[in-house]
Amino acid sequence: MPSMTTSRVSRWDQHGREHTVQVSKSGMQRVLVCGTCGWRRTAQFLPWLKAEEHLAGEHQATVDPSEG
Ligand SMILES: [Zn+2]
Repeated sequence: MPSMTTSRVSRWDQHGREHTVQVSKSGMQRVLVCGTCGWRRTAQFLPWLKAEEHLAGEHQATVDPSEG
């Protein structure tokens, strides 16, 4: 699990391209911005999970570079 200080979620797709969603704090909410397609979304809970869902669903990026 990412720590509470994580400010970005990076995943690689099957072509080895890196996709990153930035997570920034905005009051009570977190704002997610995808660096690949400009997708934006606010989330109050589990922002990293939402970021992972976007990366997997939109970019087929499911490989966590910090794992193996
Ligand atoms: Zn995106």
